Amino acid sequence: MKPILGNSSIVHLDCSGCGKQYSHLELHTFCPDCQSPLLPAYDIKKVRQQVDRDQILTRPKGMWRWWEVLPVLDPANKVFLGEGDTPLLMLPNVNRELGMTNVYVKDESSNPTGSFKARGLSMAVSKAKELGIEKVIIPTAGNAGGAMAAYAARAGIQAHIFMPKDTPYANIEESRMAGAQVVLVDGLISDAAVMAGEKARAEGWFDLSTFKEPYRVEGKKTMGYELAEAFGWELPDVIIYPTGGGTGLVGMWKAFAEQEELGWLKNKKRPRMVSVQASGCAPVVKAFEAGAMFCDFWTNAHTLASGLRVPKSFADHIILKDIYESNGTAIAIDDQDILLAQKQLARLEGIFAAPEGAATYAALKQLFTSGWIQRDERVVLFNTGSGLKYLSVH
Ligand SMILES: *Cc1c(COP(=O)(O)O)cnc(C)c1O
Ligand SMILES: [Zn+2]
Repeated sequence: MKPILGNSSIVHLDCSGCGKQYSHLELHTFCPDCQSPLLPAYDIKKVRQQVDRDQILTRPKGMWRWWEVLPVLDPANKVFLGEGDTPLLMLPNVNRELGMTNVYVKDESSNPTGSFKARGLSMAVSKAKELGIEKVIIPTAGNAGGAMAAYAARAGIQAHIFMPKDTPYANIEESRMAGAQVVLVDGLISDAAVMAGEKARAEGWFDLSTFKEPYRVEGKKTMGYELAEAFGWELPDVIIYPTGGGTGLVGMWKAFAEQEELGWLKNKKRPRMVSVQASGCAPVVKAFEAGAMFCDFWTNAHTLASGLRVPKSFADHIILKDIYESNGTAIAIDDQDILLAQKQLARLEGIFAAPEGAATYAALKQLFTSGWIQRDERVVLFNTGSGLKYLSVH
């Protein structure tokens, strides 16, 4: 029988700040010289010669179909719960309602643990397993903790989770259910991150914080491969993405660059990337409007969209660079408009989106009204999680 999976073509890790290279065969976090995220680099030339892009469609479903451009070396280390290959759905009723023609949703709520965090944590936990890690720790706004707990359980790795005490109940319970040790923090994810960082150093546990290890972004990157494939290897015109730590936005932009180098795209047209945040926590929007390359820390962050309650991403300079490069934009949405959009999406299309995902619909309405998006442009909204995870207990 022919092996289902080929080989990873990873060659090293690049520092996104100073360009210094690191070995992918050793355990790394972020660049100790300049405190920037490390991003995996691949032998794209080799993949271009050896891999037929259309053949990847015939492989078993899931994000691991893109094996050659993913970082795990030994297939035995892959921790798979069915993540990836989520539906790209046309939204006929939204289109009719707005007078548009080409609005889609990439519905990530069907991933294991009900959010797209599954992609990133599947990849990070798999790679941690490959590098011999036995204990992992994460500060989380909610869904990342639940996903890490699930993949760690599957991998036989011990999980420690620090989350704000107002994290949705489902996230707390799913983490505990999977055997993770959960610490509820009186504060924001930034406070949880400080505590988790101290604990990681003291105990020698491996920290899977957003962009503080190099591999979560590679799982999120697969959304960009699935989109290109679904659109027949042309990219959509606009991608509207709810941005907290920014792994999905950065990951997809990286995927598009790789695809161009692979020669897989029919033309060089890239999507305009739209970063959506909540008005109560909009550091990327503020920096974008000022034309800045870094974000200021957002004080008193508050929004019901817990995944967007990130006062400053560790990858802020990459997020901003990608938005500028794409001729994109950034937009803040009020919580009441998020709730309205959530109801409208459910009633129009039967999709009960997470508040973060619903925010992209609110953003679409504003950007179409202002003329930033044209009637016939192909627009993809990212519903990053299921609304079911945010129901409170009565
Ligand atoms: C984490 C999260 C986000 C933000 O994703 P980033 O990649 O960190 O920007 C958006 N929506 C949901 C449901 C999330 O859990
Ligand atoms: Zn560096």
